[in-house]
Amino acid sequence: MDTDVLVVGAGPTGLMLANQLARRGVRFRIIDRHAGPAVQTRALGVQARTMEIYSHLGIATRALELGKPATGANIWAGGRRAVRVPVRDIGRDLSPYPYLLILGQDDNEALLGEALRKSGGTIEWNTELVGLTQDADRGRQDQTCGWQCRRDHGPLGWRVRRCAQRGA
Ligand SMILES: Cc1cc2nc3c(=O)[nH]c(=O)nc-3n(C[C@H](O)[C@H](O)[C@H](O)COP(=O)(O)OP(=O)(O)OC[C@H]3O[C@@H](n4cnc5c(N)ncnc54)[C@H](O)[C@@H]3O)c2cc1C
Repeated sequence: MDTDVLVVGAGPTGLMLANQLARRGVRFRIIDRHAGPAVQTRALGVQARTMEIYSHLGIATRALELGKPATGANIWAGGRRAVRVPVRDIGRDLSPYPYLLILGQDDNEALLGEALRKSGGTIEWNTELVGLTQDADRGRQDQTCGWQCRRDHGPLGWRVRRCAQRGA
């Protein structure tokens, strides 16, 4: 595998990192052991700073179309609503996106993945890192999963196994 940066994982963290590397013209590859993007909602509160960064990536408008600003949070105790915390304008005068945007992690990952594709990046699914050792002058990963696979070797010492079928 010939690359300067290997991004392991195509969740929100890896996708954002890959997008930032792409913006700066750094050579990278991004791998994930899963077969494709997550389909569960999971995390769903997008902070103002994330939206500001999304605007740099050109995906803030689409995020606003897909999501909804949060109005408040309810805290329940003993089966009754104990308190309501208003959060609608939580960041007024602080950000162009002065609210908490409710947008599921699956949608966020889709937006980040699309931005990455537009920058020429490709997520390599079914590819798992299962070990990493580091020499004085370079890192090396080692993979030992039991799937049908092909190994790549590169000048940085990366070794990547591509899994044709997860769980085989
Ligand atoms: C059911 C559920 C509900 C949640 N609800 C909330 C919530 O309401 N609010 C909230 O803030 N957070 C929530 N979370 C947490 C949120 O989903 C995580 O904080 C978020 O996914 C972290 O993003 P990440 O990119 O760092 O890691 P992940 O999303 O975990 O992504 C890591 C990726 O790396 C890949 N990977 C890992 N190891 C390797 C390897 N060795 N080789 C190749 N690929 C690898 C994985 O396949 C995965 O796709 C929830 C999580 C779950 C599971």
